[in-house]
Amino acid sequence: MTEEVMTVPIDNERIAGLIQDGVENASRVREILDKALQLKGLDEHDVSVLMAVNSPDLLEELFDTARKAKLEIYGRRIVLFAPLYVSNLCANDCTYCAFRKGNPAVKRRALRQEEVANETRIILDQGHKRILLVAGEAYPNEGLNYIFNCIDTIYATKTEWGEIRRVNVNIAPLTVDEFKELKGRKIGTYQLFQETYHRDTYMKVHVAGKKRDFDWRISAMDRAMEAGIDDVGIGVLFGLADWRFEMLALMQHIAHLEKKFGVGPHTISVPRIEPAVGSDLSLSPPIPVTDTEFKKLVAILRLTVPYTGIIMSTRETPEMRHETLALGVSQISAGSRTNPGGYNDNEQFDTSQFSLGDHRTLDEVVADVTSMGYIPSFCTGCYRMKRTGKDFMDLAKPGLIKNYCDVNALSTFTEFLEHYASPGTKKTGDALVETVLNEMPPSRMKRAKALVEEVRAGGRDVYV
Ligand code: SAM
Ligand code: SF4
Repeated sequence: MTEEVMTVPIDNERIAGLIQDGVENASRVREILDKALQLKGLDEHDVSVLMAVNSPDLLEELFDTARKAKLEIYGRRIVLFAPLYVSNLCANDCTYCAFRKGNPAVKRRALRQEEVANETRIILDQGHKRILLVAGEAYPNEGLNYIFNCIDTIYATKTEWGEIRRVNVNIAPLTVDEFKELKGRKIGTYQLFQETYHRDTYMKVHVAGKKRDFDWRISAMDRAMEAGIDDVGIGVLFGLADWRFEMLALMQHIAHLEKKFGVGPHTISVPRIEPAVGSDLSLSPPIPVTDTEFKKLVAILRLTVPYTGIIMSTRETPEMRHETLALGVSQISAGSRTNPGGYNDNEQFDTSQFSLGDHRTLDEVVADVTSMGYIPSFCTGCYRMKRTGKDFMDLAKPGLIKNYCDVNALSTFTEFLEHYASPGTKKTGDALVETVLNEMPPSRMKRAKALVEEVRAGGRDVYV
């Protein structure tokens, strides 16, 4: 079916002007940081000034403000998920990606449904409850039904203590009708990265296939939302164009969705280009983002869209993940494999999408974030209670969502501790649960305690 291709207007000239006007000015920067602490977001002029901050003192003030905002809104929760790469077949040629068509260095593979079930069981046995399904842009004979079948298989796979409770998907853009079918499969978030909002750069790095159509890709979220998917996740692949351009363009995309649908994206992902087999570009990205710039952009995003989740994958090293967790990241993947079948066949990296920065198991990641005082959350409550899209934001903005998130984080973390954690992780985890319970306001504490006790007594999947 053909569909009229809309676009999302990205105003390059306006962005260029904003970047030029953004100069570091201490009093203006402090004014913006004060405004940011009201947690109502920032405008494009504020962002252009913050992006120009370079002096160490002001940079530290920016980071401090982001840390405060993060703590105020998300507390110490951190949501964990596992990606599940079901297929690396691809008809596109994205020069940064190992899955690109015609890359002979990668063996092609689309998992059979038994294999999808098997990978799901391994992920479940680690203790995960959320999967992000990922696939290249070409499907085996069944076409898009292949993806629908994979989603059904994941939800249908059960183990003694586990089942996947939320499947998010990162697959090629669909038509409105196809998105409606995808919604019918009970997905959580539909995720798609624009890669770069800079049209000329986009055309240079996407050399073949449907993905060359910039407008088809940028308008994907319009079609998804039109089809009723109200949790969408956008993102930029940092390293292709000037990160400052991408940030301001991302804001224009968000403003467009807010104006048209009354709500912006549920999450923003911030991958940086990582070395990928058979991709020269990935070894020397055109405009690499330094570690300092990367931390800066996470901090600015946190202040600009305080209630939008920020996702970081295992592409980053544990050190970078530590720092950015405090600055704004709210979801991380853990124990990940980026090759189809990779959970079952640990050593086979020749079908991988890119080298991973963080090779630790879920238990190790949980132990690490717990030792830093974060509460790993496996919660999937909101989407199952239909607190999505605008309804979610309406609860998040006045701070009411904490009554759910804090409680469900403890009950799902306790499930992990009871059934999956190593003895050491369980010990520090149980101690953290007690500390967090005791710090809660009385009514929330009562509810959380009841759920934690229910889980310890053998209950499962309890949430508010
Ligand atoms: N094929 C779909 C697409 O392109 O949207 C979804 C799967 S694709 C594997 C998911 C994402 O991986 C892409 O959107 C891109 O941002 C990211 N990616 C590709 N190559 C990468 C690399 N070398 N380093 C980091 N991320 C990469
Ligand atoms: Fe295919 Fe997606 Fe990789 Fe591009 S980024 S080559 S579309 S898998």
